[in-house]
Amino acid sequence: MRRHQTLKPMRRCIACRESKPQDELIRFTFDGKAVAADENGKRDGRGFYLCRDAKCAEDAVKRKAFNRVCRQNLDETEIRKVIGQALDNLQGGTDAKES
Ligand SMILES: [Zn+2]
Repeated sequence: MRRHQTLKPMRRCIACRESKPQDELIRFTFDGKAVAADENGKRDGRGFYLCRDAKCAEDAVKRKAFNRVCRQNLDETEIRKVIGQALDNLQGGTDAKES
């Protein structure tokens, strides 16, 4: 019996602009006021993606990639906070082994 390989949806990172499977990226949304991490993929608003990678996060902040995709002049401190929390949440899930 032949198994069909599931094709994952590809999304492009706003920092490095590489296309990757959606589950290797973090989705963020912009609702017209603020950027928020979208961990469940259910938030409304303009969505965009960033690698699950501190380097891409830093690049996105430095290059003001968020300003570009949101067409807004966003507060850099706020963006850093949102990205930092999203990355922390991802790492926190697998790092609870200590006894
Ligand atoms: Zn990237």
